[in-house]
Amino acid sequence: MELHIACIPGDGIGPEIIAEAKKVLEKIGEVHGHKMVFQDILMGGASIDVHGVPLTEEAVVAARSGDAVLMGSIGGDPTKSPWYKLPPDRRPEAGLLAIRKVLNLFANLRPAVLYDELAGACPLKEEISRKGFDMLIMRELTGGLYFGERRTYKENGVTKAVDTLTYDENEIRRIAVKGFDIAMKRRRKLTSVDKANVLDSSRLWRKVVEEVAKDYPEVELEHMLVDNCAMQLVRDPAQFDVILTENMFGDILSDEASMVTGSIGMLASASLNESKFGLYEPSHGSAPDIAGQDVANPIATVLSAAMMLRYSFDLDREAQAIEDAVKQVLAEGWRTADIMSQGCRQVGCSRMGDLLAEHIR
Ligand code: NAD
Repeated sequence: MELHIACIPGDGIGPEIIAEAKKVLEKIGEVHGHKMVFQDILMGGASIDVHGVPLTEEAVVAARSGDAVLMGSIGGDPTKSPWYKLPPDRRPEAGLLAIRKVLNLFANLRPAVLYDELAGACPLKEEISRKGFDMLIMRELTGGLYFGERRTYKENGVTKAVDTLTYDENEIRRIAVKGFDIAMKRRRKLTSVDKANVLDSSRLWRKVVEEVAKDYPEVELEHMLVDNCAMQLVRDPAQFDVILTENMFGDILSDEASMVTGSIGMLASASLNESKFGLYEPSHGSAPDIAGQDVANPIATVLSAAMMLRYSFDLDREAQAIEDAVKQVLAEGWRTADIMSQGCRQVGCSRMGDLLAEHIR
């Protein structure tokens, strides 16, 4: 199979970690008989330096022409970089918001996995972390409270502010379908998180999710209130497989879930549209403090590439080969500086990429 992948190396450590992800993908191509066709795109600060804007029309056309987009990270140090003297709509982050919008990426996926070898980094009690966890938070990204009408006004001399949380059944249905499709590729359990004891939008959410569930009898569905979910994530994270939720709840819960893994350099993410198209990127930023030093951890980006193979190309076996290589390399004691612990062997970004590629089966 020929895979057309648009790559956005971006800024800071972005080019270093994307180079390692490409290395691993090339090895997947060699071992599993695929051809990787990469097209590099400038975005963020790298685009500002060349074109004066964080995202050009040509870059959008190039991103659209691929089957998927693999991104490093964009942005610089806001206190030092000249990019942050520009008006907000010309800064690096504006490019990211714009590309998410034009590509209609409404479903955000963030896995939170605790690897046995990294359990020491987990801030939870040992009796909880011992069980491990492997969950995926699926957050609706283009609706809800962040996109509803809002205003601040005065009434009888008192200042009031209002934000509206709106969802229509179609927005809920399309993300629910994605959630169940993805649960089918995993352990077939879906926890839909809402606040249906209070909010009308949550009651509609629950009703539509239940309708969609009828098409997926193999998936075990449970509903959970968001306050309970926030507690369960630290009390017993092993119970979760796919968590499906609306925009604001997902914003908060996905950060909570990633914190309990304790390893920012390991966390992948994906944003998908209605087709198989998606943008895949690590959850962390461009880490300008360590850029250019060959010390960044490339694993989050490499795992994002695995998600890309699974969700945009339906290459589950190849995605698994990458995830297995990560586990194997960790089990052999190889670590980048951010996840280093006693008795392990420390390597740089490039060597970690080599090791991952060498372990692809
Ligand atoms: P950050 O995630 O870049 O860095 C936070 C800390 O984690 C730093 O100490 C950094 O060195 C470390 N770190 C991050 N990734 C690492 C990796 N792969 N290996 C080893 N250590 C790693 O967050 P920040 O410092 O708040 O933001 C820096 C820039 O990144 C800002 O311009 C911000 O806007 C941008 N950012 C971009 C995205 C994105 O492109 N989606 C996301 C978040 C932040």
